[in-house]
Amino acid sequence: MADGRWVIDVVLLPGRDRSARRRHPWVLSGAVARVLGESEGSLGAWARVLSAEGETLGFGHYSPASQIRVRILAFGKDAPDDTLICERIAQAVARRAGDPLVGETDAVRLVNSEADGLPGLVADRYGDVVVLKLGSAGMSARRELLVSALRDATSAPSGFERADAAAARREGVAVREGPVWGPAPEPRVWIRERGRRYAVDLVHGQKTGFYLDQRDSRDLVESLAARRRVLDLFAYTGGFSVAAAHAGAASLTLVESSAEALALARENIAAAPPVPETAFVETDAFRFVRQDAGRYDLIVIDPPPLARRAADAARAARAHKDVLLFALRRAAEGALVLAFSCSHSVDAKLLRQVAFAASLDALRPAQVVRELGAPADHPVSLDHPEGVYLKGLLLRV
Ligand code: SAH
Repeated sequence: MADGRWVIDVVLLPGRDRSARRRHPWVLSGAVARVLGESEGSLGAWARVLSAEGETLGFGHYSPASQIRVRILAFGKDAPDDTLICERIAQAVARRAGDPLVGETDAVRLVNSEADGLPGLVADRYGDVVVLKLGSAGMSARRELLVSALRDATSAPSGFERADAAAARREGVAVREGPVWGPAPEPRVWIRERGRRYAVDLVHGQKTGFYLDQRDSRDLVESLAARRRVLDLFAYTGGFSVAAAHAGAASLTLVESSAEALALARENIAAAPPVPETAFVETDAFRFVRQDAGRYDLIVIDPPPLARRAADAARAARAHKDVLLFALRRAAEGALVLAFSCSHSVDAKLLRQVAFAASLDALRPAQVVRELGAPADHPVSLDHPEGVYLKGLLLRV
C-alpha cells in the first residue's frame, strides 16, 4: 500500500499546473481533472502528479478524502520511495542538533511538516520523549516507518503519538494516540530552556504539550521584565510568566480559562525564582481586561486561534482589537506590550492594523519596537507561505 512504487496518476486540469511548477506542495481537489489507478489501498499511497498535457510534475502522498488531494514530496520526473522520508527525518533532526539559532534547550521541534519536506508530520522532542503528530493519510499509512526513522535519528528512549482528531477526520484515517516506543511519558516531564524549567503534560497538554513556538519571545520577555508588573493574558502553563520571574519581575498576573493549564502554571511558577506577588486568575481573558483595574508595565497577549477560516478573519480581528484595546488602557507609561496572533487569517499586516485601531480607540499612542514570530526550529518554506501562522508585535506605549 504505502511502498515506494506509485500506482496512482493524478492528472491536473489544463492550466492548473502552475502551483506545482512553483514547487508548492499541495495539489488541491479543484485542480484535479482525473485520477487513474485508484483502489481500496490508495489511502496515503504514492501518486504521480501530471499536467493536463501528460508531463510528470512530481510525486506525493494521495489523500482521496481531503481538499488537499496530494501532498508533493518530490518534484521532477524521478519517482522517490519511502527512503526519501527517512532521509528527510534524519536531515531535519540533524539540522536542529546544536543549532545556535535554537540555543540551549532540551525541548525542540524536530520536524516541521512542509518546511522540512515532510508534509503531514510534526515531531517535537521533550527531553527523553519524542512526540509525533500525523496530519495526513500519507503519514498515517507510514506510521511504523516514521516511528523507526525518528527513533533511529534521535536515539530517544521513548516516543508518543498525539492524535490530531480534526486532521484524521479530514483525511479519512483512524484517530490513534499512545506510546509508539519505550515507556509511556510520566504525567509531568520537566524540560529545560536556557535556565528556565517547565513541567509539561505530554499526554493531555495543548499542542504536543507546550508552546515551543514562543521560545524566542520567552527569551525576549526574560530580557525585558526586570522590576516590571507583568500581565500574562492567555497564560496556559505560564511560559511567559516563568521567563518574567527569571528576570526579576515585580509582580505576575496570569489569566487563563483552563483550570488544568493553570494548575500546571502554579507548579511552574513554584519552581521559578520567587516573585513578590503572583495572582492566578482562572477566567475569560476578554472579560478580565474589561473589569480589571490593575496597572502593568509588561503585558503579553497570546490568544488561541480566533479564526479557523478566512471568512472569520474580520471577527477574529475584532476580538484581537478588543483585548488589545482594553489591555492598552491598563498599560502604565512606558509599558511594553507583546501582542500575538496565531490565526492564519490574521496575518502580520492585519495584526498591525488591529494594533493601530486599538491604540487609536484606547487613546494610547504606541510604537512598534519589533516584529515577533516563531523560532528557528519552526522554519517556513518559501515554497509554502501557508506555513506562517505565529505573528507578533512588541509595542512600547
Ligand atoms: N501564552 C501561552 C500559550 C497560549 S495558547 C504560552 O506561551 O504557553 C492560548 C491559551 O488561551 C490556552 O491555554 C487556552 O486555554 C487559553 N484560552 C482560550 N480561550 C480563553 C479565554 N477566553 N480566556 C482565557 N484563556 C483562554
